[in-house]
Amino acid sequence: MQVHLINPSHVSFGTAVITPRWLYVLAAATPEPFGDPVLVDETLSPLNSDKIQPGDVVGIGIHTGNALRGYEVGRLAREKGAYVVFGGIHATLYPEEARDLGHAHAVVKGDGDIIWAKVLGDCRRGVPAGIYSGGQVEASDLVPARWDLVPRNRYMWASVQTVRGCRKHCSFCSVWRTDGQRPRQSASQPVIEEIVQLRRLGFRFVALADDNFYTVALNDLHLASRRGDKQRFEELKAMRAERFELMERLALLPPDMVFYTQITMEAAEDPAFLDAMRRANIKGALVGVESVTPEGLKDVYKDFNLSGRGLIDRLRTFRRHDIHVLGSFIFGLPSDEPGTFGATAEVAQSAELTFAQFLTLTPFPGTVDFERWERSHNGNPERIMGVPLTRHWLIPHAQRPKIYSPHPAMSADEIRQRTQSVWERFYSFGLIWRRSRFLKSLKARLTFVLISKIYRQMYADTGLATDSGRIARSRRLAGWLAKPCRYLFSARPMPELRVPDPCAVDAAAQV
Ligand code: SF4
Repeated sequence: MQVHLINPSHVSFGTAVITPRWLYVLAAATPEPFGDPVLVDETLSPLNSDKIQPGDVVGIGIHTGNALRGYEVGRLAREKGAYVVFGGIHATLYPEEARDLGHAHAVVKGDGDIIWAKVLGDCRRGVPAGIYSGGQVEASDLVPARWDLVPRNRYMWASVQTVRGCRKHCSFCSVWRTDGQRPRQSASQPVIEEIVQLRRLGFRFVALADDNFYTVALNDLHLASRRGDKQRFEELKAMRAERFELMERLALLPPDMVFYTQITMEAAEDPAFLDAMRRANIKGALVGVESVTPEGLKDVYKDFNLSGRGLIDRLRTFRRHDIHVLGSFIFGLPSDEPGTFGATAEVAQSAELTFAQFLTLTPFPGTVDFERWERSHNGNPERIMGVPLTRHWLIPHAQRPKIYSPHPAMSADEIRQRTQSVWERFYSFGLIWRRSRFLKSLKARLTFVLISKIYRQMYADTGLATDSGRIARSRRLAGWLAKPCRYLFSARPMPELRVPDPCAVDAAAQV
């Protein structure tokens, strides 16, 4: 009985930006008697189903974006006589869908780290249960990934997770509902061990693939202290100290390492934290700006962000600490007006963002927005190719609408076109070249231009273009550009690298 783990994708580029971490975590959670699983990442190359034999177990992890392909893979595997098991955020939210459309024998809801061994045991005995509840695994039980199985020279970035869950409650995001609002923060030792393993293999770019790296804001401490809640205050302080300890240990790793994470904008008010990030070589962060207007921030329940001048100052603060920001914006919010697009492009430029992404409001399952949007159809949604709009991920890509909610002031087409033009403006050659000024050499500046263009190509055209010819061209171009780009990210392996001694850090002194 062979175990296969498959990360589904309709598009394979041969090279991928980031390792799908879940494959390597579940590989580690696979008990030894089952042997090493066969790992298939379809963002690299499509599945060869001839390798699946009757009685094998095929684990398929899906999020909403790749669920449709995941179901195709599930049906193929079932035809081959394998046990089909689905997991991931989307399967957790819609287990029946995975059973009906993906022909699943079993669905794992929640984290797979612990329950996976039981699933495999049940399949071996021929008695898989329909549903397994993996729950929210405590940080101390999170399984470190098996990086010895990662293919060489195929990925630009590796991914390590230091925390699951987020205290916030943004209306368009499902993280706080699926991963919980209590951040489950790993101790520094297993994180550092994984990173050292990756650097030994030649990965020097590592994404800290966290829901929100800034687990304790200064304001959280302030509120606990004002309430006189001593126990809570001490808990938060300990968590914060743990973050500092991790960053101080990251700083002891080889200086050519580059880390990137995801963080809330409040971190800009915490210079000690930003300084620690700089020392740790966390050189970039995705910051969810979402909207440049107070009305827009209210639309998405993100009023802890600032707008106007305060917003620009906060974003620039990251740059003053040498942290490059990928700013994420959403268009199509109810309060957006035609002028919002230009204003956003201005803010993105003047806030000194290094990269930016401009998304259109999409109701994703598991979010507050989705529930509200689904209810608004009164059980009678429009159908496209027989699929209700409220199950938009099941509509073939080419026919999927780009905008889902009717807007009070603009047509769907206007929002799409204006969004496209903001992408074009931000990623025009002139502005990219101007943004590259922080780099010294011509070679580095040209590399920056190449990376910016790939980023735009991968995310703008494929997401927003409406004609299939343009989408196909964009994907081809992104694929061609990605291959030479991967070499820019590789480094000489360091098999002799040791895990830095934890005693070398006096974290408490840094807080
Ligand atoms: S968008 Fe970010 S800050 Fe908001 S809930 Fe999701 S992870 Fe947390």
